[in-house]
Amino acid sequence: MALAAVVFDLDGTLLDHPAATLAGLRGWVGSLGLGCTAEVEAAWAAAEERHFRAWREGEIGFAEQRRRRLRDVLPLLGLPVGDDAALDALFTDGFLRAYERAWVAYDDVGDALEAVRAAGLRTAVLTNGPREQQNAKIDAMGLTGRLGPVLTAEELGVAKPRPAAFLAVCERLGVAPGQALYVGDEHAVDVLGARAAGLRAVHLDRTGTGPAGEDARIGTLLELAAHLAAGPAPPA
Ligand SMILES: [Mg+2]
Repeated sequence: MALAAVVFDLDGTLLDHPAATLAGLRGWVGSLGLGCTAEVEAAWAAAEERHFRAWREGEIGFAEQRRRRLRDVLPLLGLPVGDDAALDALFTDGFLRAYERAWVAYDDVGDALEAVRAAGLRTAVLTNGPREQQNAKIDAMGLTGRLGPVLTAEELGVAKPRPAAFLAVCERLGVAPGQALYVGDEHAVDVLGARAAGLRAVHLDRTGTGPAGEDARIGTLLELAAHLAAGPAPPA
């Protein structure tokens, strides 16, 4: 079955989310007149991973995962943990504003999209996260109109790695799962999730820390072209 479409993850794949997160944290903490220690940075990253996963698995709401991140990290900064409304305001006016200012695409994105276009393939984005924010990221990266449909977990009501999320984007594109190649940076969520739904998948391992047994691995999006010409076979 010939490849017909490439579906991209957003954070960590098109958007340099790790750099934006660090810049956002440092900008926010600095605005409070505090120093951002390595301990705080590590705690913020760990809190994001833990609580975002809980949201993704339907255990808590989106606002609550943000509050929990603050509840974990504010004591390390010597700051009081307020009520929910105070935490919501602190997240929005503090971290989020600084994070948004740091949104930028990886420098391999433009060339990769051109390679996909030149191969005659369609594109789409499937991302966990809220619709408004994810579309704002695409706009900030200057990619509005350069990608096909953008599907978010919020509007689908189901998040990666659940197969229904991947099947929804194939349905939107009008392609069979085996005709779609998914590209993402989180192996368990993106690669294994896509394959479980019958899509092909490539792991974008920008940090070189992915599982050693993964054959369909690229270090940058510049290597994606090789998978468009002779993509990995879909799972049997
Ligand atoms: Mg990602």
